[in-house]
Amino acid sequence: MRHDVIICGCGPAGATAGLALARSGRSVLMLDKTDFPRPKLCGGLLTWKTARLVETVFGETMADLTAAGIVTNASDRFVIRSSRGVLAQGALLHPFHFADRARFDARLLEHAQRAGAQIKTKSRVTACDPGKAGDDTHPARVTLADGTVLEADTLIGADGANSVVRNSFPGIDKARFARNMAPAIEVALAPSALPEPVDCPQLHVGLLEAGYGWVFPAGESVLVGICGLRRNNVNFSSLFRDFIDYLKIDPAVVPPLRGHPLPYGNALDDPTCGRALLAGDAGGFVEPLFGEGIFYALCTGLYAGQAVAEASGRASSPLYIDRLRRDILPELRWSDRLRWLLFRSMQLAGPRSLGLFVNSGPSRLAEMVHGLRSFAWLRRKRWSFLEQ
Ligand SMILES: Cc1cc2nc3c(=O)[nH]c(=O)nc-3n(C[C@H](O)[C@H](O)[C@H](O)COP(=O)(O)OP(=O)(O)OC[C@H]3O[C@@H](n4cnc5c(N)ncnc54)[C@H](O)[C@@H]3O)c2cc1C
Repeated sequence: MRHDVIICGCGPAGATAGLALARSGRSVLMLDKTDFPRPKLCGGLLTWKTARLVETVFGETMADLTAAGIVTNASDRFVIRSSRGVLAQGALLHPFHFADRARFDARLLEHAQRAGAQIKTKSRVTACDPGKAGDDTHPARVTLADGTVLEADTLIGADGANSVVRNSFPGIDKARFARNMAPAIEVALAPSALPEPVDCPQLHVGLLEAGYGWVFPAGESVLVGICGLRRNNVNFSSLFRDFIDYLKIDPAVVPPLRGHPLPYGNALDDPTCGRALLAGDAGGFVEPLFGEGIFYALCTGLYAGQAVAEASGRASSPLYIDRLRRDILPELRWSDRLRWLLFRSMQLAGPRSLGLFVNSGPSRLAEMVHGLRSFAWLRRKRWSFLEQ
């Protein structure tokens, strides 16, 4: 059987693409190697733009998700620290929310399923052929671990950082992608493991050359993590243990370390090939300064789904790339410039330089992180998904 669309991966990118396509009446098959709810290593921090997208597309407010126990915390304050103490802290006009990723992702997937997408979990994709656009005899194909081969007019790769779909694109620069893949380590601890209560997100800088650490509230737990680019053969496990030490946490209460790669400065200018489109981490769509990926997964998933629906049989790649160029790629490019400026200034002048930068305009910078302002000169940001 040939499907209109196969989506590989049922995380936020896949669920949003699946929802948009099912609503447009396409036959959509969504595949995932795991079953849902599945664990996902993530800080779960949601910005203002994420809340707006979830509300606009899924019809769920942060209050709805809080009532359902999916959003566990909200905070309208932040702290940025280095080993010398607090560099910046303050109140925010718009709160950050924190989601339990296992439950958040399962909830989004339920929406796609209710709209008519067919979900097939415990189905690992082992190989793909992106197919040939415009050639009816050459559909996209995916091969599952049990040998089943499935065909579709369009394939959406929403299969995360180590995407099998991306790796099937012949022209992809795998070495560049690997270079910008940041190792991330995160553990969940009991709040009592920390010397002080954690009621707002803490960012810790100066630990590594191109990255940062975090301590986030997460319901009954606290999440402690680090992520950064590989520079000078840094050993991330021992760096994480140093971070635990610096936070004055007893190493005996730390569970076995878990890690997952984060595409950190990897966004592909053209995430398409043949009949296939990449969305979310698979296309490297993560904001390269703070590592925000949930919003970019939702937004690129939405735009990929809408592009395929609108193309109705014609090539969807130009429509998708057009949306990415309008809304996503400029943001990621400007945030990449800003991060190197900040990382280099911290190398030259120490973490205090970051404090000076943040304190020069904390509310406008907070609006930039939330997506009310652009990373490009802090101009007011207009998101297409809010204007549709
Ligand atoms: C430690 C850590 C902390 C983070 N904290 C934050 C944060 O606080 N806020 C934020 O915005 N972002 C954060 N991120 C980034 C965020 O988690 C990702 O950007 C986001 O999950 C991307 O969504 P996605 O749908 O593209 O991919 P994923 O959420 O990774 O989903 C991909 C899906 O594809 C499936 N899959 C993979 N391979 C196959 C295969 N071969 N066959 C079938 N299925 C497959 C997987 O099972 C998975 O369900 C963090 C990342 C890390 C690693």
